[in-house]
Amino acid sequence: MGKLLQSRGFSVTIQKFDPYINIDPGTLNPYEHGECYVTDDGGETDLDLGHYERFLNVRTTKANNITTGRIYNNVITKERHGEYLGKTVQVVPHITDEIKRNIFQLGETGQYDFIITEIGGSVGDIESLPFVEAVRQVRWDLGANNAMVIHLTLIPYLKAAKELKTKPTQHSVKELLSYGIQPDILVCRTEHPLSMEIRKKLALFCNVNLNSVIEAMDADTIYDVPLLMKKEKLDERVLAKLKVTTKHEPDLEQWKGFLGKLKNPTSEVNIGLVGKYVSLPDAYKSIAEAFIHAGAQNDCKVNLKWISSEEITKETVENVLGQLDAVLVAPGFGERGLEGKIEAIKYVRENKVPFLGICLGMQCAVVEFARNVLGLDASSTELNPKSKHPVIDMMEEQKKITTKGGTMRLGAYACKLKKGSKANHIYGDTLIHERHRHRYEFNNKYLEQIEEAGLKAVGINPDSNLVEVVELKDHPWFIGVQYHPELRSTVLNPHPLFVKFVAAALEHKSN
Ligand code: GLN
Repeated sequence: MGKLLQSRGFSVTIQKFDPYINIDPGTLNPYEHGECYVTDDGGETDLDLGHYERFLNVRTTKANNITTGRIYNNVITKERHGEYLGKTVQVVPHITDEIKRNIFQLGETGQYDFIITEIGGSVGDIESLPFVEAVRQVRWDLGANNAMVIHLTLIPYLKAAKELKTKPTQHSVKELLSYGIQPDILVCRTEHPLSMEIRKKLALFCNVNLNSVIEAMDADTIYDVPLLMKKEKLDERVLAKLKVTTKHEPDLEQWKGFLGKLKNPTSEVNIGLVGKYVSLPDAYKSIAEAFIHAGAQNDCKVNLKWISSEEITKETVENVLGQLDAVLVAPGFGERGLEGKIEAIKYVRENKVPFLGICLGMQCAVVEFARNVLGLDASSTELNPKSKHPVIDMMEEQKKITTKGGTMRLGAYACKLKKGSKANHIYGDTLIHERHRHRYEFNNKYLEQIEEAGLKAVGINPDSNLVEVVELKDHPWFIGVQYHPELRSTVLNPHPLFVKFVAAALEHKSN
């Protein structure tokens, strides 16, 4: 919906409300919650914000992801500052007002024609009640021409009876009505097309216009969804309800160009992703999506092979990595599988297989190099606090921090690329900005020694002198980055590092 409105010339932002108590998802286990998505302004946010950016090609901020924890934290902080002096602080109106403030805040920037606010969870959840009540009030405050409610609902399919069931939707709409909310549009998730009969039934029993029953069928790729929604005229319904005249018909030419390339690859590569959370691909959502963007750009299908770092040892490495056209070593925290990552990097370094190391992956590349090229008994202090040669070490400022959540080096930082380096060619620029999320850094005490032996620090933060990019001399493609390039890859702006990494994999394959 956001994409369609944007394609008509409107400016759109999307916001996610998560009804859990954590202040933000920064402290959640990726196994439970998938990747933590980092915004330019250093927000640790829900992975849905990654989709918002990939689709809209517009930056999100901390203000785009709000949890119950954040809302209560704000209200309780105000209470301690005496802002409600003399009053009993309650869910209604104080919590709901704070939720509304967070919706209107995006509107007050004046940057957007549309603000889409997504509420996580399901209708009927105890946790989401204050959010639902806030939505009721927003609709009342702004009036029916300025705010509308869209209910996303599941139409289950009974295989044995070959039948779609509308009853759960009827019930959730009833539940919404009991909260004082009449949805304007139903978006119906379904595995099979909705017949006219089903649409009529939904319209009649849920009090929505027939043309506001929108079919949302399972798609081959999430990137098909805007076109499917356009076919269902979701955007037209939104504009009609809000009495907004369109700026122009949807212009989705570039989007369709991307889909055409995505669906008609002329080549194929196998790229290994070595990580810890490989049983839950959502843990590396942005990396997987960045490969989709970069693959399309290269007219190439990227088959990602998910490899658990614990699987890799001296004995197995050849077997596990031998058939791959390139290897990416993933980000991560405090790992057992680290030795496997180091073994993988030794293999790709020696065998000249294209390599991209991201964050922990870059740190492992430095440790591997220090150990196997310089012959040092090296490590990262994250894994061995007593390491004799801590080539990766915690920053001084980080050592004082004991609290968790929002305390890492977070958000976009500048990085200067050395002229003539591979990274410089890839970016076509010498000054870049990329997003970070880590506590440990390249230890500059070892900089000279490491560079002399051939691993070059080609990207440096101009303010702190921290090493952000390393690349190996005499290797076709070996790059490690301390930041997360995957977070900035979008459909319309595939990330150059991923684009060129896939190209390097293709090149390696053809050799
Ligand atoms: N664990 C490492 C650090 O904190 C790397 C973090 C990451 O890969 N995002 O520095």
